[in-house]
Amino acid sequence: MNCPNFDNRVAGEVCLAVIHAISLPPNRFGGDAVERLFTNTLDPDAHPFFREIHGLRVSAHYFIRRDGKLIQFVQPEMRAWHAGVSSWRGRERCNDFSIGIELEGCDTLPFEPVQYEVLADLLADLCSRFPIEGITGHSDIAPGRKTDPGPMFAWGRLKRILEARHGARLAGLIEPQAEEPADEPLRMAWPFPMDERPE
Ligand SMILES: [Zn+2]
Repeated sequence: MNCPNFDNRVAGEVCLAVIHAISLPPNRFGGDAVERLFTNTLDPDAHPFFREIHGLRVSAHYFIRRDGKLIQFVQPEMRAWHAGVSSWRGRERCNDFSIGIELEGCDTLPFEPVQYEVLADLLADLCSRFPIEGITGHSDIAPGRKTDPGPMFAWGRLKRILEARHGARLAGLIEPQAEEPADEPLRMAWPFPMDERPE
């Protein structure tokens, strides 16, 4: 992806991975609006919400779609613009030292199992290349300002997959201790018409 929204990391090593969730328009999956937002090609007339956000200059290093497709926007060695005003272990401006990973998702629907698997393997790869000391959520480094990855993101599930595939040390890097949502029953009670089901 030809994403221009990055620059050089100013100082220090990458030591943090930040998990995000995004859907554009909100709560709709499968379109190309996230790619367009991160490449500054979002059409402000395509949806009312796009009018508010099309001028943003933002990015993440990676985007994991509902079907598990992994898209890279920015090289992890470079600084992407995903965290905004943020703080981790007393350090401000988390973009400087973090890698941002967006999952296609929202606050009301469970994430797809394959998204956790792709995320776990991506995190393991990144941890082998960078001295990552923590894996956390956007809401944890920007509390009160950001809510993603949101209540449907199952940190316990990610932890179990990381541990099973890549060992306890990597699983131990996960910082949030959130309650796990009961995502399988929610999958069965799909709240939208089936033709809106994003797959
Ligand atoms: Zn975010």
